[in-house]
Amino acid sequence: MLWREFQYDAEILAPLQATLSVIPQPEGYLIQGRLTGTVGTICHRCSEVAKVGLDHHFETFEAYEDTEALEGEENHLRATDTGWELNATALLWEEFLLAMPEKILCSDSCLGLCPQCGKNRNLEQCVCSNLDTQSPLARALQGVKIKNH
Ligand SMILES: [Zn+2]
Ligand SMILES: [Zn+2]
Repeated sequence: MLWREFQYDAEILAPLQATLSVIPQPEGYLIQGRLTGTVGTICHRCSEVAKVGLDHHFETFEAYEDTEALEGEENHLRATDTGWELNATALLWEEFLLAMPEKILCSDSCLGLCPQCGKNRNLEQCVCSNLDTQSPLARALQGVKIKNH
């Protein structure tokens, strides 16, 4: 499994599927693909499980000559006795990381953890939050029910 191998903190909620088309070019291969699935990972605000749906289209070029690879870019083509071999796993892993949003939230309205006491403010209201909610807007927001997915 990709995940174990690369030590990423995520679990697969809907099977990840990838389609790849490899188009030979004079200098290498043009790879077009799509990666879909749903993974569960950690919400950056409240540390609860957040669901991330992926539908990532990508296009990348793998050159034959790895000496010409740009700095920081890994070449996924390897010369073998029978020809060029593409490391699809590594390629898909990179695309997966690109597909993951930078900021992962369990929901857009996630309240996160209280910076004072560390309680999950989606689940319970702590005393500290009552102290600094004196504005009318903050009071209005207190009555809003947050749905946790
Ligand atoms: Zn959250
Ligand atoms: Zn608190």
